[in-house]
Amino acid sequence: MTTPEDFVRTLRGVVGDEPFVGLHVPDIAELEKQRVRECLDSTFVSSVGVFVTEFERGIADFTGAGHAIAVSNGTSALQVALELAGVGAGDDVIVPTLSFVATANAVSHAGAQPYFVDSDEETLGLSVDAVAEVLRAARSTPDGPVNAVTGRRIGAIVPMHTLGHPMRVAELVALAAEYDVPVVEDAAESLGSRVDGVHTGTSGRLGILSFNGNKILTTGGGGMILTDDDVLARRARHLTTTAKLPHRWEFEHDEVAYNYRMPNLNAALGVAQLERLPRFLADKRRLAARYQDAFADAADIEFLTEPAGTTSNYWLCAVRVSGGAARRDALLEATNDAGLQCRPFWNLLHAQAPYRRLPHAAVPVAEALHASVVCIPSSPALAAA
Ligand SMILES: *Cc1c(COP(=O)(O)O)cnc(C)c1O
Repeated sequence: MTTPEDFVRTLRGVVGDEPFVGLHVPDIAELEKQRVRECLDSTFVSSVGVFVTEFERGIADFTGAGHAIAVSNGTSALQVALELAGVGAGDDVIVPTLSFVATANAVSHAGAQPYFVDSDEETLGLSVDAVAEVLRAARSTPDGPVNAVTGRRIGAIVPMHTLGHPMRVAELVALAAEYDVPVVEDAAESLGSRVDGVHTGTSGRLGILSFNGNKILTTGGGGMILTDDDVLARRARHLTTTAKLPHRWEFEHDEVAYNYRMPNLNAALGVAQLERLPRFLADKRRLAARYQDAFADAADIEFLTEPAGTTSNYWLCAVRVSGGAARRDALLEATNDAGLQCRPFWNLLHAQAPYRRLPHAAVPVAEALHASVVCIPSSPALAAA
């Protein structure tokens, strides 16, 4: 059996001997400083400016999305995307219990309630089979399927691409179409991840990205709404910019809306990071390959690789260990003591305080994944260590 000491030694063999190695540290170079300085010099630091447009265009080109709308963070992006998909008060939204809390919070912000389902062992993402079970049991109505457990309309399905690994989104979209339920993809972690050339976040009616400081590309804080639908894109832009009607001087607004626009200052950082993204992605793949090699001989530790037929951005590298949560915690203890910042998965959402009273589906796979996965240092710069 791999001891905690062996585990630390193996990680050290890959990441080198810096006293402290973070889980995921942003890579900010001279280019970022130049762009941010340009933005400061222009005085257009807020919601109007050329960098926002340039960043949106850059993300649309990179992902192949018809439209990209820059917003303040991934959570607000998901809230607005859900509202644009028609989700509202009284609805359920199907969400994996294995996700960051923002996925469920965005559903709540949209006035709906998350209905948590299980994950898929191979992709770590939302289980298409588990979703199919919920939809098959649902009562069909003119407004859409009604969840047999909660009696609430199923307004949308939100798959998430866990740690950057693509889930089976094409299958999910086909299934959802049978029941006329929109798919809104939480691709917050998976910028750069594709299946057959199709970028994550572009298969559903809408998708979202996050550019928080710990993601593969950062704007400090920021998010993006992706959609191919011209009408939804126009609505997204309107709703995230206080629903102001265009006029040379008048302030006329035609609905209650949000101030969710990404500031130009953040977009300036994003423009520079996007230029360097291909390099980050290449570095991540090299780091992942080195971890995979390093753990190749450990029978009780499996390095998690991209699902067959997909290209992952390897946002966070992770291993799966046998022996249950006690073994996982022993490895977390030893690595963090040794200056190697390692983390478990997020605590499952169906068991967290704001959501533990809600009915949910059975989630045995998510529970097993939660008890056995350890995320390991994943900064792109480590590929050079
Ligand atoms: C980071 C993240 C978000 C939210 O992004 P913020 O920009 O921090 O609001 C949403 N979902 C998942 C799965 C994430 O990892």
